[in-house]
Amino acid sequence: MFDINNILRENIKNLVPYSSARDEFKGEASIYLDANENAFGSPLDKAYNRYPDPMQYQVKMRLSEIKGVPARNIFLGNGSDEAIDILFRSFCNPGVDNVILVPPTYGMYEVSANINDVEARKVPLTEEYQLNVEGISEAIDKNTKLIFICSPNNPTGNSINRDDIETLLANFSGIIVVDEAYINFSRQKTFIQELTEYANLVVMQTLSKAWGLAGLRVGMAFASEEIIEVMNKVKPPYNINEASQQLALQALQNTDLVNLWIKELLAERDKLVLKLKDFDFVLDIYPSDANFILVKTTDAKGIYNFLVGYGIIVRDRSKVELCQGSLRITVGTPDENQKLLETLQLYK
Ligand SMILES: *Cc1c(COP(=O)(O)O)cnc(C)c1O
Repeated sequence: MFDINNILRENIKNLVPYSSARDEFKGEASIYLDANENAFGSPLDKAYNRYPDPMQYQVKMRLSEIKGVPARNIFLGNGSDEAIDILFRSFCNPGVDNVILVPPTYGMYEVSANINDVEARKVPLTEEYQLNVEGISEAIDKNTKLIFICSPNNPTGNSINRDDIETLLANFSGIIVVDEAYINFSRQKTFIQELTEYANLVVMQTLSKAWGLAGLRVGMAFASEEIIEVMNKVKPPYNINEASQQLALQALQNTDLVNLWIKELLAERDKLVLKLKDFDFVLDIYPSDANFILVKTTDAKGIYNFLVGYGIIVRDRSKVELCQGSLRITVGTPDENQKLLETLQLYK
């Protein structure tokens, strides 16, 4: 059975978190002389001289409406990448503990493991890009703290079988992280609803993809209140800056536009897949639940370099295990996709 106290690092259990000026006085006042800010203002049109809300309350309230999760079950990070790092720092003892990764998958999990001196045990996906549940079970030992599952998966684009994830959730006494960065493009439903079922589930999403806000750096983690409390304790006090909080809040009012874009993008993705299939150098296109497609070609490096010559950049994933010969292509605007196809016509 999952018990957070069994997997929390001792130093984090005992950690007295930094208490900021805004933590210590939360009410309304007319004169704030408690945070050494510049009371004169900012040398800008807009004032950013005050520290931002450390708990991002307004953004979380809006996300709570959209996602149907109480604000106390939401953590915001400076990108999902910060949430990933905080999970390592909260639960994994450097040089002792390990995590399980299922490549080919998002590269940051391994980088974060390496930064934190945590062993990354790799149990590759099957040929169908699904979990090797038995292999994962065998790789788990008493020091296994986290298992990262990206669904829809980057770079393969497919969703991971729900039953397999649930099997792991039900049997693993550490935390399962389900990274749903691409969930808005997927036919599968989110795991957020499963939070009430599994105390060891962390679902990650981001404003960087479907929401079109990669430059703001806002990532979300949804989990039990006790996991969220730990993450809040470990995070830097003001990890989401004021501009990002204000703009994210504004953007989150615009759900209609985002939903329209998602529809358009999916139609473009299907069109792109159909057209790409006609090229001789395309061997296979994997079914995608994301805003990109993984395309197996006869010569990934050659096509990549050819496209670069025309100012079009795709991602060469041919060196990644189980992705031999493959390019990862993000779906662009109709114009961009058309240019891509026209350019590929010139490749012999
Ligand atoms: C793009 C991406 C993210 C997003 O990271 P941010 O730090 O929120 O921009 C997270 N996970 C996966 C798998 C991604 O592909």
